[in-house]
Amino acid sequence: AADERSVPDESRILVFVRLRPMGKKEKEVGSRCCVRIVNRKDVYLTEFANENDYLRLKRLRGRHFTFDASFSDTTTQQEVYSTTTADLVESVLQGKNGSVFCYGATGAGKTYTMLGTVGNPGVMVLAIKDLFTKVRQRSCDGNHAVHLSYLEVYNETVKDLLSPGRPLVLREDKQGMVAAGLTQYRAYSTDEVMALLLQGNQNRTTEPTRANETSSRSHAILQVVVEYRVRDSAMNVINRVGKLSLIDLAGSERALATDQRTLRSIEGANINRSLLALSSCINALVEAKKHIPYRNSKLTQLLKDSLGGSCNTVMIANISPSNLLFSETQNTLHWADRAK
Ligand code: ADP
Ligand code: MG
Repeated sequence: AADERSVPDESRILVFVRLRPMGKKEKEVGSRCCVRIVNRKDVYLTEFANENDYLRLKRLRGRHFTFDASFSDTTTQQEVYSTTTADLVESVLQGKNGSVFCYGATGAGKTYTMLGTVGNPGVMVLAIKDLFTKVRQRSCDGNHAVHLSYLEVYNETVKDLLSPGRPLVLREDKQGMVAAGLTQYRAYSTDEVMALLLQGNQNRTTEPTRANETSSRSHAILQVVVEYRVRDSAMNVINRVGKLSLIDLAGSERALATDQRTLRSIEGANINRSLLALSSCINALVEAKKHIPYRNSKLTQLLKDSLGGSCNTVMIANISPSNLLFSETQNTLHWADRAK
């Protein structure tokens, strides 16, 4: 008989939602808030202006969602890190790969959540800080190495964000899929990392029409490899290596409209192949399918060793509170709901 819990708990994808504050421009044009977060878990989407009307939505399907945790617009970067990623960092230190994705429409808060600002660093920086602290405490001989690579997938082209130049070629080797010639930056402290990542982010592709804005079709992938030595119970020295991947995904707005269509039919259309392929992989993982279609895009090829299997996967869906973005928000919540 089919077991309801055929997906072992340890391979489950954890799904979180983060609501960002209303922006200044949104306020100026008279946006109303259309999202309520209750009990740090439930998300209600409402077109009503009345503060209490959301309770009526409890009976309306498609307007009420529940996640592992949902963050209101006052949640701090540290709180988001601690709830979503801290456990995963712990597993990486035990030698288990993991990945964290930010998903959502352009402007929903993905880059703020992942990278953040100098004053409010995001998950990428807080994770590296935590890794440094823990690896220093645990390394049995004081030796450890933390290597960073930061790359972009744009229109199925892979670019090194730490050393911009020609596109990188992906090739398969013993360790899996690697981008040939990708910079592996050895980091010695957290302090240097924020500047490095901000610089890398500047190297992301921009659309010609909006030269100062990162293209909504650009995915940024930070990979952190940590290596150190510990003593096992028999006092033998053993090497530990773990990889953490932190991904600021392309804007979901274009992919969503065609989510139901096949990859073949979107070819040529200006749609994000990597984002769709990621959705397919996640759906296959959630349904505990044997075959996970990693080969369909550059993003999923690159993340093959960090997504599914024995790896930990975390998804943070970013949403705006504005009623003007109601349908984007609803699409994002539906997508996140299916990733659970
Ligand atoms: P995305 O990367 O999804 O396109 P951004 O992260 O650039 O979106 O966010 C859009 C704007 O909203 C930015 O100006 C950003 O600083 C701001 N913002 C996003 N999330 C928050 C937050 N949690 N708190 C404060 N400002 C935020
Ligand atoms: Mg962004």
